[in-house]
Amino acid sequence: MSLTKRIWIILATVIAIGVIMSYIVRNSGEQAGISSRNLVSVTIPKLNLIKQLRASITEHERLLYEYYARTTREGLWEKIKSTETELADQLMAINEGFSGHVMTLPKLYGEIKALQNAIDVNLISNSTDWDQARADLAQLTKVGQQAEAILVTLTKEVEEHAQQQTIRSQQQIQEMVNLVILYTLVIMASALVLGYFTQINIRKTAKRRALAKFPERNPNPVMNLNWQGEILFANPASQKLLKEIYPESENLTDLLPTDFQENLKSWQKNYDGQINFNADIDTKHLEFSLSLLRDLESCHLYIEDVTERKEAQDQLEYQAFHDVHTGLPNRRKFELDLTHHIKHTQACSILLISIDRFKFITASQGYHIGDDIIHHLGKRLQELTASMSCQIDTYRLEASTFCLLVSHANTNEVLYNAKLIQGAMDEALYVNQHSYYLNLSMGYCHYPQDGNTTQGLISNAHAALNHARKLGDSIEAYHPQFHASEQSWLPIERGMREALEKHQFIMFYQAKVDAQSGKICAAESLIRWFKEDGSMMSPATFIPVAEQTGLIIQIGYWIIEQGFKQAKQFHDAGHNIQIAINISARQFQYRHFLDQLSQLIESTQVNPQHIELEITESLIMENADQSISIMKKLKAMGFSLAIDDFGTGYSSLSYLKQFPIDSLKIDQAFVKHLESDENDKSIVAAIIDLAQHLKLKTIAEGVETHEQWQILKNMQCDYIQGYYFSKPSTPDKLLA
Ligand code: C2E
Ligand code: CA
Ligand code: CA
Repeated sequence: MSLTKRIWIILATVIAIGVIMSYIVRNSGEQAGISSRNLVSVTIPKLNLIKQLRASITEHERLLYEYYARTTREGLWEKIKSTETELADQLMAINEGFSGHVMTLPKLYGEIKALQNAIDVNLISNSTDWDQARADLAQLTKVGQQAEAILVTLTKEVEEHAQQQTIRSQQQIQEMVNLVILYTLVIMASALVLGYFTQINIRKTAKRRALAKFPERNPNPVMNLNWQGEILFANPASQKLLKEIYPESENLTDLLPTDFQENLKSWQKNYDGQINFNADIDTKHLEFSLSLLRDLESCHLYIEDVTERKEAQDQLEYQAFHDVHTGLPNRRKFELDLTHHIKHTQACSILLISIDRFKFITASQGYHIGDDIIHHLGKRLQELTASMSCQIDTYRLEASTFCLLVSHANTNEVLYNAKLIQGAMDEALYVNQHSYYLNLSMGYCHYPQDGNTTQGLISNAHAALNHARKLGDSIEAYHPQFHASEQSWLPIERGMREALEKHQFIMFYQAKVDAQSGKICAAESLIRWFKEDGSMMSPATFIPVAEQTGLIIQIGYWIIEQGFKQAKQFHDAGHNIQIAINISARQFQYRHFLDQLSQLIESTQVNPQHIELEITESLIMENADQSISIMKKLKAMGFSLAIDDFGTGYSSLSYLKQFPIDSLKIDQAFVKHLESDENDKSIVAAIIDLAQHLKLKTIAEGVETHEQWQILKNMQCDYIQGYYFSKPSTPDKLLA
């Protein structure tokens, strides 16, 4: 029961008791009044009357005795007569007011009157009989006494009656007093209860007022609406938001979605409790939370302006699925879209496009130009695909590789479109006031004809692209034979397993020298496989197979162990030579790679500062963020890090800055024609300049001539490695 209801009930009860009490008290008062009035108007006159009557009887008797004594009527008879008349009157009066014994009084009066007359007759006669007279007088006295007795009884009765009445009225007054006291107690109790409830009520109201401040001060818009959806209350934050969105508007309903009223009706029918929805109001993105208060037939609406959050989220999502340079969707988005096609068995084709010899463009023209070329090519591809008849999505996968996902395409259409794109490249690309003629290699495959898994299709499209790249400026459809070369790996794989067991692998070391002084300061460890028949297989052949089959994990562990032992041995013998170890992609990404290193540091007791890890550029760029995180851990362990084959991959300059590396190893392709090729010279100069800018050391590899050395020395290259100084050989020969 609600508090106010309780208070009303108590008040009503008190009033009802009050009315009943007033009635009782009034009644009792009236009764008491009647009693006292009776006393004054009836009882007292009655007693007076009796008293007078008694006096009259006595006086009459006395007068008759006087008459007997004086024996003369003179002066007396008149008095006797008038007393007798008084007596008669009084008797009459008494007769009217009394009943019962009073009936005998007239008879006594008759006797008195008769005795009075007999005495008178006797006394006035000449022959007065004195005896008779005395007898009569005696009789008179007797009658008087009888009357007296009756009157005494009467007096007693009247007095008793009066007393009873007094007691009754006293009782009534007492009852009244009791009732009044009781009523007072009831009122006091009610007042206490009422006071208690009022206090609770006051406290609740205060609390409610404090709560009411909550929506008032809420920084987010809060509204109260009636069941029809009309706004009854809106806090200041609602007004503020309205002003932000529509500075001119006064109408708070402008903050609600246009279909709000309509939806409200259906929610009222189908939902209970809370409904959440989003809506764009002008430029703002708002999040609504509506509570339906069915019992109160009203709704609470909470609004949150999530524009910033939404924009940040959109931005993040955009970044996750888009390439920074071109704004095109990235590899991740492509994989999702392709998976979507496969899931819904929608036929499609994948066309991979790559710029031929792109690394030479970036190396010769600089990374910014490379970025710009990619950007412009992305734009051109988008324009071209937009004008094509079928639905085509364009992606940039990595470096210079783009991808087109052609929906519902037939084989001929894809080839036709690919040729269109190739033809369009006859027109130069203008970047930084220079024109570039690009050759594109393209490879494509079809879903479902060429595969039914995302990875399978991507791998097949890449196989086709690789084939096209080998030919250059060509378009190739996927053919299962493209993977046939993998078959030739089988004997190599088997051979490597044997080689590990039979100790056919040997580590050779090639010196890295200081470019200025020509002194040896480090050595790169390079694996050699001497077969049973005495022949040697190049690591360039078997390392990729080991990577593909996963054997590189085992072989790589052995290589690192040998490198650590050699470094330890050199330093223990007093040779300050750092050992550089090549780390393959698979090894680098292996989840126990760091554990393995820690384990080997422990077992070989090598100082990690005497070890440099060579990681290829393309490997790092494949997943730059993850690579950075691993590299940071390697740095923290104490290793030096070098980027191998620098210039062949495509490092984004922004990433390069973030790599925690120590040196760049300029790929031998740039060193090879250093003396004759001006282009290569400027590439190497640019790389050295970049490295100095980033405070990195440079190593040039593949130095075969004195001239190359001199050029590099003049360019301020820090270290040199190549056949000119030493061929890879055993540690003993290296020291010699
Ligand atoms: P790389 O890491 O770029 O190694 C340099 C290669 O250039 C070596 O070939 C080396 O012998 C060769 N070289 C050194 N100086 C000269 C020179 O003046 N002229 C010419 N023409 N070549 C020179 P190698 O030893 O045949 O190794 C080939 C590739 O195999 C390496 O390229 C590396 O990617 C891989 N590899 C070799 N050993 C290992 C290893 O222990 N672990 C891993 N993961 N990969 C290795
Ligand atoms: Ca290397
Ligand atoms: Ca290299």
